[in-house]
Amino acid sequence: MTSEPPDYTAGTIAFEEKYPQISGISISIMETKSGLRKEYCKAGYSDIKKVPAIHPCSNPRCKEGGLDLGRAIADMVAKDQSNHKINLRSCIGYTTVPRGNSPGTRCTNDFAAVIKLTYRDSV
Ligand SMILES: [Zn+2]
Repeated sequence: MTSEPPDYTAGTIAFEEKYPQISGISISIMETKSGLRKEYCKAGYSDIKKVPAIHPCSNPRCKEGGLDLGRAIADMVAKDQSNHKINLRSCIGYTTVPRGNSPGTRCTNDFAAVIKLTYRDSV
């Protein structure tokens, strides 16, 4: 019995190739860690070449977690939006990966983000 881990690199296309109409991007991310005391972690991207499809979660025990920026950006481009705010969204990762009858434990980190896009004039 073999189970292959999902391949998260498959189908990854650089944003600048996927969305040539985007001329500028600005993303600011605020990460909140749940626990005894809240901690905040700020991150930002201002170069489309450096924007990851998934902003990685900073929880060292978290697996396959983070904030799905790729989907948010795809959504914005589809709607021709230039400003988008992501209100607190739970991390998509697990600190205990589901296995057999165990449902696993979701990572408790939350993310909030503001994404701004500027579009090139259509030619
Ligand atoms: Zn996480």
